[in-house]
Amino acid sequence: MNCNLCPRRCGINREEKIGFCGEKNLIKIANFSLHNWEEPCISYEKGSGAIFFSGCSLKCVYCQNYEISSQGVGQTITVQDLANIFKELDKKADNINLVNPTHFSNLIIEALKIYKPKNPVIYNTHGYEIEEEIEKLSPYIDIFLTDLKYYSSELSLKYSGVKDYFEVATKALKKMIVLKPTIIDNGKLLQGVIVRHLLLPNFIEDSKKILEYLAKNHSEVTLSLMAQYTPYGRAKDFPEINRKITAHEYNELVDYAIKLGLDGYMQELSSADECYIPKFSNKVI
Ligand code: SF4
Repeated sequence: MNCNLCPRRCGINREEKIGFCGEKNLIKIANFSLHNWEEPCISYEKGSGAIFFSGCSLKCVYCQNYEISSQGVGQTITVQDLANIFKELDKKADNINLVNPTHFSNLIIEALKIYKPKNPVIYNTHGYEIEEEIEKLSPYIDIFLTDLKYYSSELSLKYSGVKDYFEVATKALKKMIVLKPTIIDNGKLLQGVIVRHLLLPNFIEDSKKILEYLAKNHSEVTLSLMAQYTPYGRAKDFPEINRKITAHEYNELVDYAIKLGLDGYMQELSSADECYIPKFSNKVI
């Protein structure tokens, strides 16, 4: 297969080589478990059945899952193994949460053809997606839980290596919103889109532009403003982002979201803690 699954469009044969994402055409995961720290409509009562995929097609320098996104931690499993994991999590979780799935979306669809969970399936993405791939995924996915990280192309280039993040991510977001109108049952999200925005230290003006964009174009979307930024990965090489955000920064952004009339979830600053990151491993099944 010549891979063009993400906007990097490496076009290489992943049966033979790895592309930018660092993974061949074989599913690799580093953890699957119940996760209770997602938005309340996602964690709901029993928790979210999260599956963490290894490799990444974006690779932000500050990634909190750096060891799996960039350092190759994880175990290679078959499509059938993944379908079995869906089945196992489906029994005990409120949903199946595919964390960082973009570069395996073709194989994930194959696994979902083998076992279609009774609970909603969540595509939990960095947001740098191709619209056509979102369309292909749509029959198998119920919820798009997507980041909208940067407005500025300078920031997206510096920290995620792509100049066109905002342009590409907003096109994909538009598609997700059209495809998945919100359905909530008694506080549990069954279908819809949640936009996550992680505030970076020193870049509140960029975050405000993201909020303005959402208020102007998708005022109905559920926003999740994330306070959990912690300088992981290579963040120490970038002094301006080598610290947690302050309460002042976060509160200013929350006030701005309220002023713009946006609705959604806010996080406690205490969520910027390592205990919220699962233990990753090379042996998961
Ligand atoms: S999924 Fe990986 S190999 Fe495929 S285009 Fe994206 S970065 Fe390249």
